Amino acid sequence: MNTHIHSQNQTGRPRVEKTEREWREQLTRDQYNVLRGKGTEPPFTGRFVHEKRSGTYRCAGCGAELFSSETKFDSGTGWPSFTEPADRANVELLEDRSWGMRRIEVNCAACGGHLGHVFPDGPGATGERYCINSCSLELNEH
Ligand SMILES: [Zn+2]
Repeated sequence: MNTHIHSQNQTGRPRVEKTEREWREQLTRDQYNVLRGKGTEPPFTGRFVHEKRSGTYRCAGCGAELFSSETKFDSGTGWPSFTEPADRANVELLEDRSWGMRRIEVNCAACGGHLGHVFPDGPGATGERYCINSCSLELNEH
């Protein structure tokens, strides 16, 4: 008998559900602080800030496809930046009013992990700048 119950996200896909203990065992401390603790890595410290290889950026928590290297650009901010997600359904956007600012938080739609924020000053056709922590990403090279 299948008694496992998935909660639903905005796209109706099943959530990846893990306990805090499971996340702590799976993730490094830095990954945990960003993905589960909504932390921000210090600028210019992440391993993907100057990354130029082509490939697919996946969620470090659950492996969901999040961004393509084709949309990555050098924003000068110190964080990996993208003009759009690989698939809009794979990210959740939430209003974040912490630190006295109104920002839009970007989360992984599959596991709820915090990725970064999106700002309306991107250089591409979307006008968006996805400012993402390296800690929340893994790169699969093409
Ligand atoms: Zn995820």
